[in-house]
Formats: sequence, C-alpha cells, structure tokens
Amino acid sequence: MCKIAICPGSFDPPTDGHINIVERALKIFDKVVVAVAVNTTKVPILTADERVKLLKEIFKNYKKVEVDKFEGLLADYARKRKIITILRGIRNMSDYEYEYQMALANKTLYPELEILFMMTEGKYSHLSSSIIKEVLTFGGEGKGMIHPAVEKKLKEKLEKKR
Ligand code: ADP
Repeated sequence: MCKIAICPGSFDPPTDGHINIVERALKIFDKVVVAVAVNTTKVPILTADERVKLLKEIFKNYKKVEVDKFEGLLADYARKRKIITILRGIRNMSDYEYEYQMALANKTLYPELEILFMMTEGKYSHLSSSIIKEVLTFGGEGKGMIHPAVEKKLKEKLEKKR
C-alpha cells in the first residue's frame, strides 16, 4: 500500500523550515502532498496561486511531491483525497498547543485521520513565514531561510505595496 501524507499549511511564504519537513517526510512516506490552504484566517501577502506556483518551483525535481491547494476544511480535503495521514511540523510549545487543538478537531471531523507531528530541526526552529515577511519588509536578505524564487517574488510584492 502506498503511504501518503498531506503537509498542509498557509505557506505564506514557503520557508526552508517547510522544505525541511517535506524532505524528511519523504524518507517515511512514498508520497507527500503539499496542500496550500486557500482561505486562511490570516490576511496573506501571496495569493494562493502564487504560493502554489512557488511550491511547484521549489519541488520541481521531487518526483514524490505533489503540490495542491484546498478550500474549506482540511478534514474534508483529506477525506475527498482518501488520505488518512496529516503531517505537521512543531517548533515550540505554542505550536504544540495550537496543533493539539487542531488535531483533536480534525479527528472529530474525520475519525479515520491520523495527525503526526515532526520536530523541527534546530536550525529552523526560529523560522516562520511571519519572520520572513518582517525581515524582507525591512530590507533584509532571505539567504539560508527561503528559496531564491520565494525571495524574488516577495521582494516584487513588497515593492508594489510601497
Ligand atoms: P499554518 O498557517 O497552517 O500554521 P504554516 O505555513 O505557518 O501554516 O505552517 C505549515 C506547517 O509547517 C505547520 O505544521 C507549521 O508548524 C510547520 N512549520 C512552519 N515553519 C516551520 C519550521 N521552521 N520548522 C518546522 N515546521 C515548521
């Protein structure tokens, strides 16, 4: 049986922390579906299609990675795709508290679902999409934190906003 996991998220923007989780997941799963949440509660800087395009560029040489997007509930998306494993990255206790609640809610909505957590690698533990937005807004460089394609796109977007 093919072992598939969904790595869902806002990916606004995708960071090296996200990439690291997907790469490590590929050692455990036969396939990873990177699923972009279209309607997040946060106001995104990148549109869902821009996030999908960047993730497709990042993972273009990864045969076992599929990039997709979903609207509405993750549990409904997983059920529709007949996938029963969700993989989420954990950086710290506040991630854990949020993830714990989300996992229980998703399990209630779709009882067959199993939600797995992967610890971040130390060097990515500080990395978040919001930190990246802040760094680039104030003229910093994304090297070692984001893919060059992400940096280029974000800089374009921030330039337009000025
Ligand atoms: P969401 O808005 O759904 O939390 P994010 O794009 O912020 O989406 O994160 C998607 C997933 O990636 C989450 O499980 C998050 O905890 C994880 N993640 C984000 N940054 C890192 C990182 N630096 N290391 C490990 N996991 C991370």
